Amino acid sequence: MSVVLPPNVSEKDFQKALAAFAGVVGRQWVLATDEDRDSYMDIYAPGDADQHIPSAAVGPSSAEEIQAIVRIANEYKVPLWPISRGKNLGYGAAAPRMTGTVVLDLGRMKRIIDVNERFGYCLIEPGVGFFDLFDYLQQNKIRLWMSIPANAWGSVVGNALERGYGYTPYGDNTSHICGMEVVLANGEMVRTGTGAMSNSPCWQLFKYGYGPSWDQLFCQSNFGVVTKMGLWLMPEPEATLGLDMQLPNPDDVGWAIDALQPLRLNGVLLQNPSIGNSLRFVASATQRSQWYQGEGALPDDVLAEILKKSGFGWWNISLRLYGYDEVNQVHARIVKDAFAPHTKQEFKVSEWHRGDSIENSGAGVPSVNPLQIINWRGGRGGHIGFSPTLPAKGDLVLKQFHSTKKRYEEIGVDYYGSFTLFDRYTTNVNMMIYDRDDAALTRKVRDLFKVLVADAAKEGYSEYRTHISYMDDVARTFDFNDHALLRLNERLKDALDPNGILAPGKQGIWPKAYRASQA
Ligand SMILES: Cc1cc2nc3c(=O)[nH]c(=O)nc-3n(C[C@H](O)[C@H](O)[C@H](O)COP(=O)(O)OP(=O)(O)OC[C@H]3O[C@@H](n4cnc5c(N)ncnc54)[C@H](O)[C@@H]3O)c2cc1C
Repeated sequence: MSVVLPPNVSEKDFQKALAAFAGVVGRQWVLATDEDRDSYMDIYAPGDADQHIPSAAVGPSSAEEIQAIVRIANEYKVPLWPISRGKNLGYGAAAPRMTGTVVLDLGRMKRIIDVNERFGYCLIEPGVGFFDLFDYLQQNKIRLWMSIPANAWGSVVGNALERGYGYTPYGDNTSHICGMEVVLANGEMVRTGTGAMSNSPCWQLFKYGYGPSWDQLFCQSNFGVVTKMGLWLMPEPEATLGLDMQLPNPDDVGWAIDALQPLRLNGVLLQNPSIGNSLRFVASATQRSQWYQGEGALPDDVLAEILKKSGFGWWNISLRLYGYDEVNQVHARIVKDAFAPHTKQEFKVSEWHRGDSIENSGAGVPSVNPLQIINWRGGRGGHIGFSPTLPAKGDLVLKQFHSTKKRYEEIGVDYYGSFTLFDRYTTNVNMMIYDRDDAALTRKVRDLFKVLVADAAKEGYSEYRTHISYMDDVARTFDFNDHALLRLNERLKDALDPNGILAPGKQGIWPKAYRASQA
């Protein structure tokens, strides 16, 4: 068995720290064999998994155990990387930013502490998965709907902390967080918002509390370990109405964004529709070799054949209206009117009414089917996601789309993109799918990623979240006043975590201890 050590920690001290962790959680929950470490590596890594090797993992079952672990970590200067379920696929999975960090796996903390139907919220621990909460709501006939990412294998808390999103009106998960319990780097426990009052009935109702509001400071950060989260859930609507359309041309995404954005802003559309290219669907049902075996990205004639045979459009729009049936009908007419000047096509309409099966309702219903896309190229598949945000404006969307597609084609990767429309901006998730055993291809993908970050930054666009390998690159693009924001984050980090034990390097925020050697 080999030993991986945190930087600047002797093997003797590391073993002492592991023994002390075992004293808290029990020996079986300290995982430090080669196999254990393998299971916390980035399983989709584009050839650079060795940059992010954990030294071990420790699995607490309560917030009190986390407090004890954090105090031990301070004593031995052992860094910890908290994960909720560690299914952050395409962004690093369970692996830490810095080799040698111990993964703090909160997957055993799976309590659904409270679900309140009247006020539409839940209070949950980090290990609660999307399937767990969905089953709980269904089994208890609670009429609250969840917002679920396309791949629902992960944690409700972990996804909201990373600012992940789903596709219902509550799709922007992080904006529905209301109150947290957090263990700080010194082992102290705090509750945010009105949870800071020991008897508040409003912890999951009123976000801000009094004075500075902290919930977002614990999102995409390394300032604390979140041990409980309040999250608002959507009341089941009376009805939903689906409007689907396949758009035949690459440039159709431009006018579609311009037609939909005003409706998203004025509230006709309450959800975040996602406009995805055909590969998004075709890659989860077929393999590339069934269509094309040549070099380079899929040629246009092959793509045309795929569209013809699969029935998908170049872009595919799936809209959903939620609310009272009568209102949905009026809103559907408004959406159709907005599309009429651009296309002779009709929307495919589907309707759901309370009491019908939830499967086709537009509620968040968890699934892992989209994971099949990694088989697209054959071999041991993987993907990485490049996900910039930009103004929801057709001409800018087209420019970004064409520039990214051209970059893909330069290295022979098939374009796979989607634009999810929020009220004012759109998030453009681009997946690069590869065979992890194709070293030449993964090398090109790694280089391309840096080029895409730089291209986007020239336009003033940043990523909404990023893979662990590119956290510094993206942080550096926030350059106003000679990177004043990074300095603020670092000052906060040093004040809260002087030994630098929580998630060093996350989002490009390095604690003092590693700043010179790692950043
Ligand atoms: C095919 C496919 C489709 C996908 N579609 C979507 C999609 O539609 N929307 C979407 O959002 N994502 C999507 N993803 C990405 C990913 O699968 C999800 O975002 C997933 O929910 C993240 O994993 P997790 O929830 O287990 O989070 P984790 O891996 O547990 O957490 C993510 C990160 O958050 C931090 N963190 C987690 N828990 C804590 C804590 N308690 N305290 C402090 N910090 C913490 C850590 O840095 C951790 O690395 C997709 C992935 C694939 C492969």
